[in-house]
Amino acid sequence: MPVAVFTHPDCVRHDPGPGHPEAPARLTVLLDRLRRDPGAEVREAEAAGREALLRVHPAGYLERVERLSESGGGALFLDTVLNDASWAALLGATGAVRAAVDHALAARGHAFAAVRPPGHHALASVGMGFCLANNIVVAARHAQDAGRERVLIVDWDVHHGNGTQALVERDETVRFVSLHQWPWYPGTGAAEERGVGNVFNVPRGPGRPAMQYVEDLWAAIAAATGGWTPDVILVSAGFDAMGGDPLGGFTLEPEHYAELTTRLRERLPSAPIVGLLEGGYTPSRLADGVAAHVTALG
Ligand SMILES: [Zn+2]
Repeated sequence: MPVAVFTHPDCVRHDPGPGHPEAPARLTVLLDRLRRDPGAEVREAEAAGREALLRVHPAGYLERVERLSESGGGALFLDTVLNDASWAALLGATGAVRAAVDHALAARGHAFAAVRPPGHHALASVGMGFCLANNIVVAARHAQDAGRERVLIVDWDVHHGNGTQALVERDETVRFVSLHQWPWYPGTGAAEERGVGNVFNVPRGPGRPAMQYVEDLWAAIAAATGGWTPDVILVSAGFDAMGGDPLGGFTLEPEHYAELTTRLRERLPSAPIVGLLEGGYTPSRLADGVAAHVTALG
């Protein structure tokens, strides 16, 4: 059975401007690829309403993002830039994320959300690192509202998910495991940052053999799930840890994402898995990485 991949047409209309790495082509190339892949079934979700974001972000922050977008766009914070479609893209992405979670929780199969803008750097009231809302924590809260209390978040984007960590580090119901380049943007993610014992950071230098990254991340996942079985697994699936990515120095290849995905399925067979697109800045490579992950989910 093909794996359901949820997206929304407005996700490609968000455009931070010429030369920006978080470009619409990331998603258009990916969706072209997945639409030709018999292992994937691309579906368009309904956009969410703003209330779907209020579980994670204060109303004042959301109003600021909406107003900036509706006035034509501009920089929200440094390199996190909006255009007139960004607010619509955010609600579209949120709808796709929630639809992917609903699909997986209904035992219709593992799922993927192919969305932009990405989310794991977004703090409650600060959009940063190309991220406006924290999609993965929105997904976690949506799953918990549906009765799945224990959520495992695996973040294999090459950058540390500082926003995700900040939003869950006092919450024992969520365990957060992150492999990321260190020292690197955004500067957080030291191994000593343990939250309430629910944070498992794996900071590593660039240029190492790919299987070293895989085994180190896997050891942290094993530690996080020793005697603790999640009700759902959410993957902050960035693909900028692939060799040659302009924003990272790791060496992963598509087969490594397939390997990690297969290991997650085998270790935690009762937990539905939902992957959410984060980074990955060479569109054709990003498409290869996602296709490998999605195929391994099927
Ligand atoms: Zn990244």
